[in-house]
Amino acid sequence: MNVLFEKSVKYLKGVGPNRAKILSRIGINSIGELLTYYPREYDDRRTYARISNLKNGQTATISGKVELTDIVKINPYLWVFKAAISDSTGIIYATFYRKPSFRYDAFATLKKDFQPTRNIIINGKVEYFGNTKQLRTDEYEVITNPNVVTIHTNRIVPIYDLTEGLSSKFLRSIMFNAVKEYANQFSEFIPKKYREQYGLIDASSAVANIHFPADYAILEKSETKLVFDEFLLFETAVQISKLHRTEKEKEHTYKLLKHYLTPFKNKLVFEFTQAQKKVINEIFANLQSKLPMNRLLIGDVGSGKTVVALSALLLALENNFQAVFMAPTEILAEQHYSTIKQYLEGLNIKFELLTSSTPSLKKKTILKQVEEGKIDLLIGTHALIESKVKFKNLVFAVIDEQHKFGVYQRKKLIEKGNVDVLIMTATPIPRSLALTLYGDMDISVINEMPPGRKPVKTIFTDEIKAYEFIKNEVKKGHQAYIVFPLVEESDKVELKSAVTQAKHLAQEVFAEFKVGLLHGQMPGKEKEQIMSDFKQKKYDILTTTTVIEVGIDIPNATVIAIEHAERFGLATLHQLRGRVGRSKDLESYCILIGNLKTEDSKKRIDIMLSTNDGFKIAEFDLELRGPGEFFGTSQHGLSELKIGNIVRDIDTIANTKKVAEEVILSDPKLNTQENVLLKHELLQRFAGKFKLFQIG
Ligand code: ADP
Ligand code: MG
Repeated sequence: MNVLFEKSVKYLKGVGPNRAKILSRIGINSIGELLTYYPREYDDRRTYARISNLKNGQTATISGKVELTDIVKINPYLWVFKAAISDSTGIIYATFYRKPSFRYDAFATLKKDFQPTRNIIINGKVEYFGNTKQLRTDEYEVITNPNVVTIHTNRIVPIYDLTEGLSSKFLRSIMFNAVKEYANQFSEFIPKKYREQYGLIDASSAVANIHFPADYAILEKSETKLVFDEFLLFETAVQISKLHRTEKEKEHTYKLLKHYLTPFKNKLVFEFTQAQKKVINEIFANLQSKLPMNRLLIGDVGSGKTVVALSALLLALENNFQAVFMAPTEILAEQHYSTIKQYLEGLNIKFELLTSSTPSLKKKTILKQVEEGKIDLLIGTHALIESKVKFKNLVFAVIDEQHKFGVYQRKKLIEKGNVDVLIMTATPIPRSLALTLYGDMDISVINEMPPGRKPVKTIFTDEIKAYEFIKNEVKKGHQAYIVFPLVEESDKVELKSAVTQAKHLAQEVFAEFKVGLLHGQMPGKEKEQIMSDFKQKKYDILTTTTVIEVGIDIPNATVIAIEHAERFGLATLHQLRGRVGRSKDLESYCILIGNLKTEDSKKRIDIMLSTNDGFKIAEFDLELRGPGEFFGTSQHGLSELKIGNIVRDIDTIANTKKVAEEVILSDPKLNTQENVLLKHELLQRFAGKFKLFQIG
């Protein structure tokens, strides 16, 4: 057990109740938490600059002697303490600006520390004032004894994130003491075998050197070790959760009959890509194995996930089982329904669409037939997982666009039975990240686009040019989307403005064309009608919101204009762009219109202009926003990473995953002597989070 996580910081010299309270605000209650409060960055203060060489504006560390001090009153509210410091080459004035107080002497500490003839090390920024040089001092350290070890100067100095009432000097000082007294008790939980295999230094020296490194080489080794530790804990937790999932063998088995699969394949007007074939094989092998499937299918927008899912569904159906296909929106469910209809025509499969706008009478019939096993395949939205829906022999569920569903909804579906689950996502999570996040799932990646796709050309321009462009495209017989930033589909004010603007476009700008309007607040039936009208070219232009973000597949639409593009996140922009470029022959365009006020919005637009690769975009997005925000909520322990970085540490993540698998395979309960420390550490650090892992 890592006792340091149970020992209060109050045991440290200088930490009383008040300071303990302040530390608690940044999550530091125990000495263990203090020691794992890692520096944000480091400042190299190992070499002293010579005073005569100092340049204006430079940041420098100087070692010298205090000559004399003085206080200069700039105005009633701002005084400056000045200390003349000399070295063998010259003199500089260390300056400290303070607000004076009538109640106490704001300069007492400075006066005490800067006593003439004392040796002192100061660090700060050089400022020239005519012929005199000043050093606006950040930190200083009095050297009373030449052999003393400095904390704030004369070394690679750690810089920490602070909070109000917590000075860097104080935090660094208690850290220094904590390291000195307790680092050697910092527990090692990595089995020796793996420490050797991966060349990891021991935990005690890692934690000591991450705070006060002797040089950059040892700092790097410390970082490597601590990152490894952190991810190994995480990955082991994930593996344990995976073990729970695979404890129970499933009762159903699938035979590859090809009753349905062959006719389906014959109907396809294209060949599967290599990537699709590979993924279909992975899924089929998984379905035919004894353990339930829990597989994530990652594929960029338009990579052809639907037909892959359909192949898998058909395997279940030809074995006389029931299956469901769940989509996040009604429009998408409707689209899947019509795609499936087209492929299943002539096969003896009964399938139905069930959404919240299915009329209640019809719904009743459907529910009855599902329960009796008369419906084989149910397609729909989350209406599918209401508890009213009971199946006769459900074995397989496909969940499209998983990022739109909460963990809870997925869990509810899985609980309907010992169901094989295929989750699809077009948020192209970098593989490394997928491995970490969804480590208890198996992962398939479609990393190839169907042949002949023309990359979408992305342009940033103003409204007038954009509208001209759209007119030209529409005149060629193509169709266009114009998207308004209704970020929350429930926001009434924004909705009103989107609707008004759409009207303006329809009646004035594009008066000569047929313009439709689609938004999420419309009743389901109306949405379906508009989508199918658009598909049948009854409209030239569809003004809309992010309801069309996911999945919609209309090849004749060749332009998507996104208004106020700066208001959308990268993932959404990429998804929206994916609505076009779906034709083999037609060139497609994404037009971004907006006002780039912030640095962030500039970056996002730049990325959109520079690449079409969803995986790259996801990586940028992750860098811009960080993992916590990338995933909306902090549903995984990941947002609590203290030193690991899921983008930078790809290799370590892969390595720790391997180790975790090996360890759990050979010792599932972590009871052997070499693994028991790992178990204790896990229980201590992840207590309470295990439940989440099992469904995450
Ligand atoms: P997504 O992965 O975004 O869900 P879809 O499944 O909607 O993509 O597929 C996009 C389009 O590509 C569809 O019109 C589909 O019929 C077509 N498609 C899928 N696979 C292929 C392929 N191997 N060759 C050509 N077109 C394909
Ligand atoms: Mg799709």
